[in-house]
Amino acid sequence: MSAPPVTAATRVLALLGDPVAHSRSPVFQNAAIRALGLDGVYLALRCGPAELTGLLRGLALAGGGGNVTVPHKEAAYEAVDRATPAADATAACNTFWLADGEVWGDNTDVAGFHAALRLLLGRSIAGGRVLVIGAGGAARAVVHALASHGAERIVILNRTAERARDLAGRFGEAMARIDVVTSAEALAGDSFDLAVNATSLGLHADDPLPLDPRRAPPIDAALDLVYGPAGETPWIRAMGSHGVATADGTEMLLQQGAASFRRWWGVDPPMKAMRAALRKR
Ligand code: NAP
Repeated sequence: MSAPPVTAATRVLALLGDPVAHSRSPVFQNAAIRALGLDGVYLALRCGPAELTGLLRGLALAGGGGNVTVPHKEAAYEAVDRATPAADATAACNTFWLADGEVWGDNTDVAGFHAALRLLLGRSIAGGRVLVIGAGGAARAVVHALASHGAERIVILNRTAERARDLAGRFGEAMARIDVVTSAEALAGDSFDLAVNATSLGLHADDPLPLDPRRAPPIDAALDLVYGPAGETPWIRAMGSHGVATADGTEMLLQQGAASFRRWWGVDPPMKAMRAALRKR
């Protein structure tokens, strides 16, 4: 089915962030809109901090909505009127829309990460030991998802100790045992069911690996939030060559987008069409 032509009634959805030119979201969101014959269009708008709140609220109040990416997820949380429990828990928002005259925000990275994780492991992470590399916005969604699904122990590895301690403090004690380290050497003697790269390392060709498998403790599975061509990143390749089960961030991207789609359109997304669009380069 093809979407109706763009008219005055067309809903405008947009990804707000900086940079956004590399994003795959417009490709698979528009494919989903077309597949269901919905009257909408999904754009990517590069915007700075000063424009974020105006754009986000303007789009929502005009009956549209959208996503928010780096570096605006925390600011987006402040810009919405109402937040879902996932957005509240992470104080970050990657999805916004209008409901009953109010601007709502959700953080679908939480559900997206959890769905991708289930697919990689083929089981729940409950009782598992997880190494999270990074302590930024994405790591918040990851640690929240892990802690709320019963991970037994989480170790956060981040070059900036203070940021990692802040993250541990947000979710520790009540939910899971969370430790903080600033170097791979401090992991000696440990072992993990899962390691997650939640840093931005891997976005650029000359980036170092977030964790060198030759200096890493035993790890069963590795999930990279960064996504690359043909489902591979340098880290995924390196970990895979050491016998680790791996996945890049493509599935998480798809799953967070699917959860956002449900918020905007109130229907289940056409996963097959979205997946096919994402596979096309
Ligand atoms: P962020 O808030 O800017 O955090 C970046 C993290 O990377 C921080 O922990 C930072 O460490 C670390 N880092 C950056 N450069 C580094 C370097 N040279 N050496 C060591 N560590 C470095 O970004 P974010 O929002 O968390 O996003 C992180 C990544 O996740 C991005 O690549 C994003 O595209 C990806 N992501 C993917 C999905 C998906 O659906 N697949 C969803 C969300 C995010 P410091 O604290 O020390 O600065």
